[in-house]
Amino acid sequence: MSPRLAPIAASLFLCATPLLPGSAAGAEALPPSAAQIASATEALRPRLVELRRDFHRHPELAYHEERTAQVVAERLRALGFDEVRTNIARHGVVGLLKGTRPGPVVAVRADMDALPLSETNTLPYCSAVPGVMHACGHDAHTAIALGVAEVLSRMRSQLPGTVKFLFQPAEEAGTSTEPDGATLMIREGALENPRPLAIFALHTAPELEVGTVGYHPGPAQAAIDTFQLTVRGKVAPGQQGCDAIVAAAQCVNALQPIKGRRLDTLEPVTLTIGAIHGGNRPFSSPAEVQIEGSVRTFSEGARIRVMDLLRETLAEATATCGATFDLQFHPVTAVVVNDPKLVQESLPSLRQAAGATHVIEIPRRMGGEDFSCYAHTVPGFLFRLGSGNWAKGIIADAHTPAFDIDEDCLVVGVKVMSGTVADFLVRHSRRP
Ligand SMILES: [Zn+2]
Ligand SMILES: [Zn+2]
Repeated sequence: MSPRLAPIAASLFLCATPLLPGSAAGAEALPPSAAQIASATEALRPRLVELRRDFHRHPELAYHEERTAQVVAERLRALGFDEVRTNIARHGVVGLLKGTRPGPVVAVRADMDALPLSETNTLPYCSAVPGVMHACGHDAHTAIALGVAEVLSRMRSQLPGTVKFLFQPAEEAGTSTEPDGATLMIREGALENPRPLAIFALHTAPELEVGTVGYHPGPAQAAIDTFQLTVRGKVAPGQQGCDAIVAAAQCVNALQPIKGRRLDTLEPVTLTIGAIHGGNRPFSSPAEVQIEGSVRTFSEGARIRVMDLLRETLAEATATCGATFDLQFHPVTAVVVNDPKLVQESLPSLRQAAGATHVIEIPRRMGGEDFSCYAHTVPGFLFRLGSGNWAKGIIADAHTPAFDIDEDCLVVGVKVMSGTVADFLVRHSRRP
């Protein structure tokens, strides 16, 4: 172990007593039942909490998930995985669990990175790393995926096919200059050898009460593009020049009503100006002002329309005062498209595991997710796992310093994901 890594609790690596006996030799094993998965998962509850708290206490920023990846890889090896590949996309881990019966390949994805935030919670397992915090629930995602790995590894003799686990780095990283973890994982072959028929993921959802699972078929989470806008004034010595600051202010104002102009009002679009830089003295205007922002859209058509409209609006705004502008767009993430057929065929498994009334269709979300990369490569389904609890006051949004989860969601997540994946293998192993 690298000396700079925080110590890893020995108990996290204790190989569990097999939760379920294998099937008798020669007998045709039945597929795992929901009841079997539920009782196996319940038995894991203390370990799931312990794992999640360990990850929470030792958060690592995007592309620095060294300790987390080490815990993951050691755990998968302890569970007897057939293959554990490390250092994919820097700290990504890919594990293969082969059932003893023939069948297809299905993938489960978990993200491992934390955020540059200082936690304000005062829980005993709060972040021990100043300025870094699991404020998006990726600690829970990693613990849940390890729980699924453990539950299914005890049911190998009943599994028709292979489960591929993708523990990815840097879901939060996607910027104009740095690719997100999913892009790098795919680039480095995580979806090949073998290629899964489908991929599943879950994300904690503080807006949903724990016990609830939310889904949205089709385009479910927005595409994000950032833009860099440079507004240039005309400074003529001894003459009244065109003030870049004034021109930039006009541009910002002109961009505000853009959503209401010639865009389908039913098409959700957001435009955010996130930064303005220009000038450093009180007496004179700078030659140029830099503005940075982002747009979120749900379709390629809306994305192109917004980009055109931005250019058009800025041309009008700068022309009135003789300024000029340069506008550059940078794609960050594509739309998360939940394959409608995969969603429909998976809903019975979700309902079986979570309870029919706890599985609800939810509106699409403006937040981006690099799961989109996988789901553009193979059919994918990302569902939201209720992690809020109003009665306990667990209501803080993700990406805020008071974010927390109701840890009961860990067991729900393992049950739902294990059942969904096992059922997928059973369904698709029966098809020609
Ligand atoms: Zn996030
Ligand atoms: Zn997240």
